[in-house]
Amino acid sequence: MKNKMSDEHSVTRKHNVRMLLQKMRDGIIKELSANIDPKLGITYPDAEADLKSDVQPTLEALHKEGFLLKEQKENVTLCRRCNGASFKIMHRCPNCNSLNLRKGMVIQHLTCGYANLESVFAEHDYVCLKCKKRLRALGVDYIKPGVQYVCNDCGNIAQNPIISLKCWTCGELQSIDETRYVEVSTYTLDHSKRELLAKVTFNLTPIIQRVHALGWVAKKDYKIRGKSGVEHTFTLGLWQYEHGLREAPEVVVDIHMDVVDDVHVLTLYAKIIDTGVKNAILAAVPIATEKAKALAKYYDITIVEAEDADALVEKLTLAIEDVIKS
Ligand SMILES: [Zn+2]
Ligand SMILES: [Zn+2]
Ligand SMILES: [Zn+2]
Repeated sequence: MKNKMSDEHSVTRKHNVRMLLQKMRDGIIKELSANIDPKLGITYPDAEADLKSDVQPTLEALHKEGFLLKEQKENVTLCRRCNGASFKIMHRCPNCNSLNLRKGMVIQHLTCGYANLESVFAEHDYVCLKCKKRLRALGVDYIKPGVQYVCNDCGNIAQNPIISLKCWTCGELQSIDETRYVEVSTYTLDHSKRELLAKVTFNLTPIIQRVHALGWVAKKDYKIRGKSGVEHTFTLGLWQYEHGLREAPEVVVDIHMDVVDDVHVLTLYAKIIDTGVKNAILAAVPIATEKAKALAKYYDITIVEAEDADALVEKLTLAIEDVIKS
């Protein structure tokens, strides 16, 4: 049981966060999986459509508050300065920091200890550059310790040069240890948290069933392109069966899980003008401001106020019935 204090600080107080949870509850979004972008680093495209900003902290908070399940899928290395995920990778001499290295099979002359690339020995007819003796037999007077890096500046030979990463986005130079190691996770809704979800989301199924019983069709998260060319989304679009889904809906419903103010009414008004929809219902959980109600009345938009998600279903069903039957 959460106390009042933690409820007040919950990220679910934000309308956008509730809309995201709503889409997950309705199955419109199945899971939130990460996309690794070379410039932007980790993004969650499905969540960004609703959340716009602070996406990862918000998803983490929703996980901590018990709404989302989290499963790590992979990890990614990000720039310590800009969080970009693409780097130019360079090998450096561990002795003098030079980038001027050659890579190849190394020969070490056991007689004198001198080592260099096999190609260099070959250029000199397998005569040692240091002691001037000719190499005789592998494993007897010389060995091949493997493929290594030879520094052209200081002559140092290294099996493991320093790896330097230069960020393609911001140019920051950093070692692997200095980059950000980030776990990449996928989030899914924890459907078992019924009580918790009921506080911040609503269940459209009873409304849709009632609409069907009245001989109408309902489509949730309904998208339609307006005369302006802009695409609009309504929480619900409603049609009479005989008219089908080909035309604009006869009734649209938008649900706002927060205080509805005049801006929300104006936004809905602009949407119905652009799409040519005649009847609009705007539901507010919990309330609409007086200014919002006055505007809605003027624009002939029905306002429904409900104190919580359960009351919303009840009152919204009645309001829809009123519009359908009129
Ligand atoms: Zn060097
Ligand atoms: Zn030698
Ligand atoms: Zn960077």
